[in-house]
Amino acid sequence: MTQPPSKRRLQTRIVHAQDQLTPGFESFAVPVARASTVVFPDLATMRSLDWRNDAQWRYGLHATPTSLVLAQRLAMLEGGQHALLQPSGLAAISNVYFGLVKAGDDVLIPDNVYSPNRDHGEWLAQDFGLTVRYYDPLIGAGIAELIQPNTRLIWLEAPGSVTMEVPDVRAITTVARSRNIITALDNTWSAGLAFRPFEQGVDISVQALTKYQSGGADVLMGATITADEALHLQLKTARMRMGLGVSADDCSLVLRSLPSLQLRFAQHDRSALALATWLKQRPEIAAVLHPALADCPGHAFFKRDFTGAGGLFSVVFDARYSAAQIDTFCESLELFSLGWSWGGAHSLAMPYDLTRMRTETQWPHRGTLVRFYIGLEDEADLREDIAQSLAALG
Ligand SMILES: *Cc1c(COP(=O)(O)O)cnc(C)c1O
Repeated sequence: MTQPPSKRRLQTRIVHAQDQLTPGFESFAVPVARASTVVFPDLATMRSLDWRNDAQWRYGLHATPTSLVLAQRLAMLEGGQHALLQPSGLAAISNVYFGLVKAGDDVLIPDNVYSPNRDHGEWLAQDFGLTVRYYDPLIGAGIAELIQPNTRLIWLEAPGSVTMEVPDVRAITTVARSRNIITALDNTWSAGLAFRPFEQGVDISVQALTKYQSGGADVLMGATITADEALHLQLKTARMRMGLGVSADDCSLVLRSLPSLQLRFAQHDRSALALATWLKQRPEIAAVLHPALADCPGHAFFKRDFTGAGGLFSVVFDARYSAAQIDTFCESLELFSLGWSWGGAHSLAMPYDLTRMRTETQWPHRGTLVRFYIGLEDEADLREDIAQSLAALG
């Protein structure tokens, strides 16, 4: 006979304390449900749980009520039905690969793709028996000519988040659907707000929630969003096999930022477009790569399919400046920090070496590319900062 609870020794009472949360409390915050162990009321319940059901809790790695709320809100935001969370945007990309392709399959990747996705594809090709091939992001319906009987997955990125070419998503998904090939779109640039993937025939939308959704440059998380149940379950299986989970604390940070997502995105968009337009007039700049500007490759598709652009664009400097001079330009900026990732309140600038980043298409510019992320500072201050750094170029 064990002691009644009140008679147990202190160490047992503190472990087995049967606290009841005081009822009648309400707040706007989604509670943080932390768990590795999920406790079952009895074994029959445990045995009856169906892993396919997103709300049947089996283990904290798979989901908690907090992560489920975030997944549901992301699916709603993006116009999908289901979402899975991964510990980074790159893990979401990895989840897509491992969920969909196997040895012998062929994958098509746009030549302007987010570089770690390219590296991931290369790795699978080298060590896991796939083939990966790259296509001109502006190929449109011409993608049909690249399709082989074993082509299983087509990646898209709209636009490519360094060089900003905007693809004709609809033309590519139409071909893919007619050939039973899955399309996965990295939709991070648009935050899932400015481009509606499922209306354009995309099967999987990938988000790096690390960016605008977190909004603080302090959380890493990714998501795969789908409209089709079978595809969701296929990705969910791979996610489980790979042990990809997210913490409830990180989910609560993203949930805290979501209500301001549209407002922040619109503000980033306004400032970035104003600065891009101003930079276009500067004699130091050979090209401004911003999808909302008429001479950006694929601008017609931006106009047709997008409702906004957010804070990320690139410029190409005049070829008379050396790469070292452009390094100095970036380092002379006072309000722009040097760093990867984006989506927070702080502006960023980073030079890129395009020669290492593409294999299929010829990069048409000779000058150095700098990618700007325009944060939430006052646009006039950012403009003055860029102007002083340009003036120092000589
Ligand atoms: C940042 C980013 C990712 C990866 O996100 P992480 O959370 O940093 O792994 C994927 N795609 C694009 C376009 C990105 O900008």
